[in-house]
Amino acid sequence: GTRIELARCTKTFPDGTRALLPFDLTINGGETLVLLGPSGCGKTTILRLIAGLEFPDAGGKITFGEDDVTRQSIEKRRVGMVFQSYALFPNMTVAENVAYGLKVQKVERRERDERVRAMLEMMHIDMLADRRIDQLSGGQRQRVALARAIALRPRVLLLDEPLTALDAKLRVKLRTEINSLLRKLGITAIYVTHDQEEAMALGDRIVVMQKGAIAQIGTPREIYRAPLSPFVADFVGASNRLDGRIEQNSLVLGDVKISLDQIGHAMTGDPIKNGDSNSNSRSGQGLADIYFRADGLAICAPDQGQIRGRVEAISYLGEKSRLTVSGIGESVITLDVDPDFQIAIGDDIHCRFNPERLTVFGRY
Ligand code: ADP
Ligand code: MG
Repeated sequence: GTRIELARCTKTFPDGTRALLPFDLTINGGETLVLLGPSGCGKTTILRLIAGLEFPDAGGKITFGEDDVTRQSIEKRRVGMVFQSYALFPNMTVAENVAYGLKVQKVERRERDERVRAMLEMMHIDMLADRRIDQLSGGQRQRVALARAIALRPRVLLLDEPLTALDAKLRVKLRTEINSLLRKLGITAIYVTHDQEEAMALGDRIVVMQKGAIAQIGTPREIYRAPLSPFVADFVGASNRLDGRIEQNSLVLGDVKISLDQIGHAMTGDPIKNGDSNSNSRSGQGLADIYFRADGLAICAPDQGQIRGRVEAISYLGEKSRLTVSGIGESVITLDVDPDFQIAIGDDIHCRFNPERLTVFGRY
């Protein structure tokens, strides 16, 4: 796979919208990089810059391997694209759709047929070769779109929320297939999604974006376990938040005191002042934002409890039950229990923190 590099890129649209603030980004050859972020944060704009559908502001540079493509047109770049809407030719057959780009590229007949056949087989749609696009389901259409994009042997494959329009079960199935396909073929790929689970499942690395800027780049584990900011923590699903304080080397929450050394991820330095956003300087005083998922707090026996709450709602999820609990912070907290655990709405419960699963940001 080709290494893709964007250097000192920004994007300002003619109407003055600053869609992308200055950023550098490298996608390694063969890597699947996921762009994750809320709607409007600039994900599609990055893909369009790489595709050549938009150009970066003056000063920005885009290279594919050794090749400077900054001012190159889309035709010259050899990018494959798959979007949420299929952009297939509805009245052509599946095989004709996949063959189309190869015809444009003047790939000779025999090789074209062979490549189309191989692609359809790989995407498990060989039996649909002679069907028209308008006779296919949404999932089948996305398979055709993928086959068409990959058949061209692109230097980079760009996927913009390709599974968003599909139902949940099919989404999981197709993302698993895309995952193994990209690895098998060693294609450099950039995959855009606003779904954190999809991002975790697919990405070698994830870029979390916020308002036109890169908030964090890291492996799924790094993003999940060591978010660099409250925005990232919240966006990747650490939806419980409590206010605390930091005193000496401890996190303090009402009567509860936990040594910072036990906290899974604590960022208590001032990232701007010490210039190292990964700093774990474990000192100082001040306010703290505490983030955690449903596994950050557990029900326990009354004499073991650190904090009390009241059950407001119970969702049975099969392998676990998820409780909504009030009385612990300003807003409600969610936590998980064994689905066979006897509990009812209105019950008072005693809970203990799982320090290893807490993320703490010092505020100064
Ligand atoms: P995302 O894909 O993350 O939802 P986009 O890259 O589509 O975000 O858009 C980023 C920002 O740029 C948004 O504020 C959007 O309204 C703006 N934008 C996108 N395209 C244009 C355009 N052609 N002209 C002006 N503003 C645009
Ligand atoms: Mg978009």
